[in-house]
Amino acid sequence: MTIDDVSPLERWVDALNRKVELGEGLEFSAVQLARQLNEPDIASLTAFLAKLVALGSATEFTAYTCPMSSCRKTLPSGVDPVACPFCRVTFIEEGVTPTSEQFFRLTGEISRDIRWMVVIHGMNSRAPWQEAFSWEIANLLKYSAPVLIYKYGWATYEVLFPGIHRRMAKSLGRRIRIAIGRARAANLPDRPDVIAHSFGTRLFSLVLQDPEFADLRFGRVITAGSIIRPDFDWKRHFRDGRVEAVLNHVAAKDGAVPFAVWAIPGTGPGGKVGYMAQQVLNVRNLQYGHSSFFEDQHLPALIGENGLWRSFFTRPLKPLRDDGVFVQKDAWQPPARWRIITARAGGCIAIAAVVLASLWLLKLSLCW
Ligand SMILES: [Zn+2]
Repeated sequence: MTIDDVSPLERWVDALNRKVELGEGLEFSAVQLARQLNEPDIASLTAFLAKLVALGSATEFTAYTCPMSSCRKTLPSGVDPVACPFCRVTFIEEGVTPTSEQFFRLTGEISRDIRWMVVIHGMNSRAPWQEAFSWEIANLLKYSAPVLIYKYGWATYEVLFPGIHRRMAKSLGRRIRIAIGRARAANLPDRPDVIAHSFGTRLFSLVLQDPEFADLRFGRVITAGSIIRPDFDWKRHFRDGRVEAVLNHVAAKDGAVPFAVWAIPGTGPGGKVGYMAQQVLNVRNLQYGHSSFFEDQHLPALIGENGLWRSFFTRPLKPLRDDGVFVQKDAWQPPARWRIITARAGGCIAIAAVVLASLWLLKLSLCW
């Protein structure tokens, strides 16, 4: 179908829907819109816009336009039009009067700015992507606020002990609280957006659950390679206003997430099967593995113009679409306790065997 086969009405509807979807260019006069759409029939377009107002999809207001031919900008509303703030012409001095024009405003959500951001990485990821990633993200931020990349050192056997998780989460929560305090002091929004990966998702979930941090509120949250349980009570955190939105990015080829439930107490394969809470947006990528999100060949597509992550952070949520969106309807059950205990005991024996073998090899080499 070429553009000529589409009726003008369909074209207008598509163009306006796109504006609402992007949250951009929501205010315009009929003449401006006609110019944008290459539409010669301004009268019909004006009638169409009036119909939108009657239907409640748009509102109408009068705005003044700078009469200087070199400027013609729309003047800020609510101010007596005596001068143009753009070309700095005073109208009386120039002997001109600003022209008034009927404007329309689409009543869609407006796109938001990415605030400052907390990034919580996975275990032992000191990969070069972290620097490239924080640089890319910092370039997207509206405010020159830092990206807080939370580091928790070299975690190894610690992940086996829930008590240590909680201690690490406490340290993360306190660090975030300090950052929120600084944001407030600098008049920045006090709800950071969050990107959490792998073991970082576990720590973030513990911060949400910890009563000590009930005052911490977050903007939009992305979990990638998540080891949060699929039945995690996101609903409660939405209801309590702790999170504004959650995107769970699932990697279909994730080989690490399914093991988490066997090795790390309190976790589950959220990054493989999705979250069951209906408030969460689950998106599956069929090509990705556990850390693909941050690799050079994928990251630019995620946070670049129209990328999924960027769109999630900045655009109205309702129309957000991706081919990988899915709803996790099946109830998820953690494996039986005895199976987990058996698996962990087996794991411990294997680790002990490796340690003993290394010591033995070390002794051999020292003897030589
Ligand atoms: Zn002007």
